[in-house]
Amino acid sequence: MGKKLIVQKFGGSSVANVERIQNVAKRVVSYRKKKHDLVVVVSALGDTTDELIELAAKINQHPAEREMDMLLSTGEQISVALLAMAIHKLGFEAISFTGAQVGIITDSSHTRARIIKINADKIKEAIKNGKIVIVAGFQGVTLNQDITTLGRGGSDLTAVALAKELKADECEIYTDVKGIYTTDPRIEPNAKKIDEITYDEMLEMASLGAQVMQGRSIEVAKKFDVPIHVRSSFEKDTGTMIIKEVKKMEEVVVSAITLNRGESKITICDVPDHPGVAAKIFKELAGNGVSVDMIVQNVGHLRQTDISFTVNKTASPKTLKITKKVAKKIGAGQVLEDADIARVSIVGVGMKSHPGVAAKMFEVLAINKINIEMISTSDISISCIIQKRFAETAVKSLHDKFGLGK
Ligand code: ADP
Ligand code: ASP
Ligand code: MG
Repeated sequence: MGKKLIVQKFGGSSVANVERIQNVAKRVVSYRKKKHDLVVVVSALGDTTDELIELAAKINQHPAEREMDMLLSTGEQISVALLAMAIHKLGFEAISFTGAQVGIITDSSHTRARIIKINADKIKEAIKNGKIVIVAGFQGVTLNQDITTLGRGGSDLTAVALAKELKADECEIYTDVKGIYTTDPRIEPNAKKIDEITYDEMLEMASLGAQVMQGRSIEVAKKFDVPIHVRSSFEKDTGTMIIKEVKKMEEVVVSAITLNRGESKITICDVPDHPGVAAKIFKELAGNGVSVDMIVQNVGHLRQTDISFTVNKTASPKTLKITKKVAKKIGAGQVLEDADIARVSIVGVGMKSHPGVAAKMFEVLAINKINIEMISTSDISISCIIQKRFAETAVKSLHDKFGLGK
């Protein structure tokens, strides 16, 4: 086997404590011993990012996004330095860098910045000098030298973007499960590891709540055709390949079940039923940077209707404020929030050519006496909003009924 350039990313749980950092160091060094060049992307230790967000909230309920990025980027800076030290301790050369140092240039949309370009010269130079390069995930810098972050789970994006930029031979994402499963293995122990999955399916799963890969990282991987290997940092087995096309004789109808408990349902009651009203509501929300998900408008009676939609829970205080203001302006009634909802979805490319999939999903929920509050579909997925207390039952029974178990 020839010498390769491998990008490896280790998630927060893989570096949660001293022992695990040492374990990652050993793993990285084992590849170095085979003469490969390595660029290692690391996330913040364990739950550091969540803890920093909580800390900020204690100081200011509405912290400035620029300062949030300043704060959150420190998490990854700790990990890279510690991993470099752990590798040194094993007698190998390594050097750590922040996102800014390795020229990950982003736009200035703080907390969700987009990568504009990467000036990878510093990385290439360090590799040439025989060093294992360790890069802080999840962060970049604007042309104005302001530190930015790439959205939650953004270290995945750092890894994929670097793999593309450096024309790496492999991009490995190390995490705390053995790969991509037919559903979250923490909810359904019977879930099966998938050997190969397409970018499209993975992207759909990510956007519907499977946080194992950040959705944006899959978009970039798909755009530049970067194959990703998702695998366990605790075991040697191969994991799941995320690739363009999966060689199967026939598409599986449903390949995975996902769950998202991170959304809230907002309902505007008694909305006047005439043209332009929905435009007013959603334009105001969009203008304030709120991205709305599932939208349902009931059939109007007496020229009034209810409009419901879902938003990410983190955006719900802002959404409520804006929506109440607009509701008043357009002469609508109350605005209600239901935070106890969950979205359960089935995903599969084979769905396109198979009728009856939706019916089967609804039937499974009905048998379990689970009420469906909203439904939405795409080419390759069907989602239902249900009450959160039924979420696990829904996932398990759909997983079982669509034949996904071991
Ligand atoms: P990391 O810290 O390595 O980035 P994450 O917590 O972001 O890890 O993602 C890994 C977690 O994703 C797993 O622990 C698992 O509970 C969850 N997960 C959700 N859906 C799936 C799925 N379909 N396959 C694998 N893991 C999943
Ligand atoms: N530490 C960041 C987060 O928790 C980035 C990552 O883990 O990928 O979102
Ligand atoms: Mg992650």
